[in-house]
Amino acid sequence: MSYADILIHGGRVFRGLREGFADAVAIHGNRIIAAGKYDAVAPLAGAKTCRIDLAGRIAIPAFNDSHQHLLPLGVTMGQVNLRAEEVTTLDELLTRIRAAATTARKGAWVLGRGYDHTRLDVARHPTADELQAAAPDNPVFITRACGHVGVANRAAFAEADVGHNTPDPEGGAFERHAGQLTGLVLERAMRRIRDRMPPPDEAALVDAIERAGNHMTAQGFTAVMDANVGMIAGMLEISAYRAARADGRLPVRVWGCLAGNPEGIADAAWDAGIRPMQGDDMLRWGAMKVFADGSVGGRTAAVSVPYENGGGTGMFMFPPETLKSLLKKYHRQGWQLAIHAIGDAGIEVTLQGMEEADSSDHPVAGRRHRIEHCEFMADGQTARMVARGIEAVPQAIFLYEFGDNYIQQIGRARAHGCNPMRTWFDAGLHPAAGSDAPVSSTDPFINIATQILRCTSRGTILGASEAITVAEAVHSYTWCGAYTQFCEDRRGRILPGQLADIAILSQDIFAIPPDQIPNTRAEMTIRGGRIVFER
Ligand SMILES: [Zn+2]
Repeated sequence: MSYADILIHGGRVFRGLREGFADAVAIHGNRIIAAGKYDAVAPLAGAKTCRIDLAGRIAIPAFNDSHQHLLPLGVTMGQVNLRAEEVTTLDELLTRIRAAATTARKGAWVLGRGYDHTRLDVARHPTADELQAAAPDNPVFITRACGHVGVANRAAFAEADVGHNTPDPEGGAFERHAGQLTGLVLERAMRRIRDRMPPPDEAALVDAIERAGNHMTAQGFTAVMDANVGMIAGMLEISAYRAARADGRLPVRVWGCLAGNPEGIADAAWDAGIRPMQGDDMLRWGAMKVFADGSVGGRTAAVSVPYENGGGTGMFMFPPETLKSLLKKYHRQGWQLAIHAIGDAGIEVTLQGMEEADSSDHPVAGRRHRIEHCEFMADGQTARMVARGIEAVPQAIFLYEFGDNYIQQIGRARAHGCNPMRTWFDAGLHPAAGSDAPVSSTDPFINIATQILRCTSRGTILGASEAITVAEAVHSYTWCGAYTQFCEDRRGRILPGQLADIAILSQDIFAIPPDQIPNTRAEMTIRGGRIVFER
């Protein structure tokens, strides 16, 4: 009998949605060897076994963030933080930019991330002139929380050669008032600005991966999907991930989803010999990302019924035929499709693209294609996803952070239907939870509580009938993540034979009122039998 290296006991162990609770788990090497009643598991422990007493706390399968941007998260953790939890006034935002500009070298870019104009006191975006006054000697670019729009100062426009008469690029725009640039840059027009920033080098990217990875393990995660590898530094991101993996500086397992927009790295990666499912349990390339539409907050998600107050019907990132041909190409290359679609019209063209890619020599069944975010659906779309095994990858945290704004943008009735989790589970889908960080907070406990309560940060309940249970919410954050990464046979549950990826939480989230779940924190994270975080 192999002695356990680690024995966890003294509290409840959530093994999985179907398996329920145990009260002890034994780990040997990188695997779980037993999970069950204490009396049955304890004999596996010997003199050298490390015993972890839960003391009433709970052990669960470690979390999996099924859609986030690990590398950009690490990069932006080094940028000026303008997130709404900290910055609620225009004054404060400009003060932070001014402070950063004072310490930056003259002419160096000052970058800020995460502002939300709807939660600023002025309820509008900052302007190019305001940012110019705060940082007269530096190009400034700040990105809204959604990542789909941003604001440049005059110096940044000058660096990027963008003037009042510069034409808008396809799928993007420079906002103008009376023919003058306001500062607001939408969607793909942001590339015009970003292309002028000095690219980070590989060492900086490895630092970013490690910084963000440690941030994740400290919250009980051992796995993430980086949902757009190549979006900020092209193929250098691939080599940075490989270097981080080789140097033991990759704290979490990564399912790599490559940037498949034409300006991304799909062709370069293919030419470099990168193929679907290459890699190992720490780093594997698997999916291909394409954007169908934008965001509701930026009124760029494509909807079939116009936004409130004459706001149009949003934006397709590409003409539908272009999107469909990209989907078909990547499907035939063997990638899992991970398509960003938020509005019902964006979801519609995505579904059509997947349906039209389905053929007898390249069937869609079994490929676990995914619709990222998948927020506002039209009748019949869920059934079509079920029919072809297409999964939804929702971010409950959007409902929490942006839910009240959704009501203003698309009206209450549609806002109630955001991410219909109950409907999806009942229909047999496997919706995998994610944060979309750095768009939103990575905090898994707010995300879980929101799936149960459907409550926004301002206390508005949206679509109470779509609520799910605590066990389903944890399942969505663990097993469903593994399922969308083709590894549910070895991750996502606490069962003999599974990799020992376990999080110990400060309180038993199954036994407390759901509104107290956000007060929970991860106290220990074990990845492959190794303790990778301990508070
Ligand atoms: Zn994303």
